[in-house]
Amino acid sequence: MIATSIFPGRYVQGAGALEAVGEEAARLGRKPFAIVDAAIARMVSPSLVGKDGAPMAQNAFGGECSDPEIERLAGEARGMGADVILGVGGGKALDTAKAVAHTLKAPVIIVPTLASTDAPTSALSVIYTPEGAFSRYLFLPRNPDVVLVDSAIIARAPARFLVAGMGDALSTWFEAEDCRVKGAGNMTGRAGNSTAYALARLCYDTLLEYGEQALRAAEKQVVTPALERIIEANTLLSGLGFESGGLSAAHAIHNGLTQLHDTHAYWHGEKVAIGTQALTVLGGRPPGLIDEVFEFSAAIGLPTTLNQIGLGAATDAELMKAAQAACAEGETIHNAPYAVSPEAVLAALRTADAIGHAQG
Ligand SMILES: [Zn+2]
Repeated sequence: MIATSIFPGRYVQGAGALEAVGEEAARLGRKPFAIVDAAIARMVSPSLVGKDGAPMAQNAFGGECSDPEIERLAGEARGMGADVILGVGGGKALDTAKAVAHTLKAPVIIVPTLASTDAPTSALSVIYTPEGAFSRYLFLPRNPDVVLVDSAIIARAPARFLVAGMGDALSTWFEAEDCRVKGAGNMTGRAGNSTAYALARLCYDTLLEYGEQALRAAEKQVVTPALERIIEANTLLSGLGFESGGLSAAHAIHNGLTQLHDTHAYWHGEKVAIGTQALTVLGGRPPGLIDEVFEFSAAIGLPTTLNQIGLGAATDAELMKAAQAACAEGETIHNAPYAVSPEAVLAALRTADAIGHAQG
C-alpha cells in the first residue's frame, strides 16, 4: 500500500507573529500582493509591511470566493507583477488567495485571523457563485507555502469562533481513526501515514486538556499558553489530521444537516460537533468515550442537542432527508469501518440528541 500525507511548507504562530510577515514574504518573492478581508483591514493593514519596511500592495477582498472575484484579484496582482500572494482574514478571503496564487502559479502565504476551522493549511479552496451558493471544490496541487497565525489577533475575535474551531477539531481524531481502521483514503485518495493518525490523536488530547482554559482566555481577549495550544490544535493539528488522516461520518452528517434550512444560522464547527457526537453513537464507541465527548462539548458551549442547531422541532422525515444526504454516494461516511445507512444515521442523531438532553 502506498500511503501519503501532505503539509503546508511552514507554520508560524504566536502573539505578534504578523511582525514576521515581511521576512516570510521576502523568502518567497520580491513583490508581495495581499488580499485583505475588508472586515479586519483597519486592524491588520498597517502591519502588512515588507522586510524593507515598505507597505505591501493590498487589495480589499470583496466578500465572496467566486470566479469573478478570483479573476479580478488575479488581474490586479498580475498587473503589478506580484510574485507572492498573501491572504489575510477569514476562510473565504484565504480560499480566494489560494485560488489567485494558483492562477498566477505564485507561492501563497495564508494569514488566518480566526481559529474557527481547519481550512487554512489545506490544499483546497471552496468556490461559490457571486450570490453565495456552493459552486465547486478547487483541489490545488500543493498546500500553502506559509501559514502564519498571530495569536493576539485571534484572541481579539469573539470567542464563538474559537469554540466553533474546537467543534471542527473535535471530529478530526474520530474521522481519522475510522479511516485508519478501514484503510480508507485521505484527501489525496491514498491512505495516510501513521504520522497523520498520531497528529489527529494529539489534536483530540489537546482539546480535552486545554479547551476550557483557552476559552476563558478568549473570553477575556488575552493570549495564554492554553490559548496557543488550542489555536494550534484548531488550525494545524486539525488541518493535518483531516487532510492526511481523512474524513468519515462527522463531516458527512454535517453536510446532510446543511440540507435543512433551519441549521443555516449555525456555523460549520457547531454542526460538525453534532456530527461527531452522532458518529460516536453510530460507530459504537465505548460509553466512557461517548460521555467524554458530550461532557467536553457542553463544557465549552458547543451544541449537544438538535435544538441547539435550530432543529428542536425537526420531524423524522426532515432528519431522514439529512441522513440520506449524509449517506449519498461519494460522501465520506463510506470511509467508516461500520455499517452505515440513512436509518442508522437517523437513529444515531436521535440517540445523540437524547444523550445531550439527559446530560443537560
Ligand atoms: Zn470541517
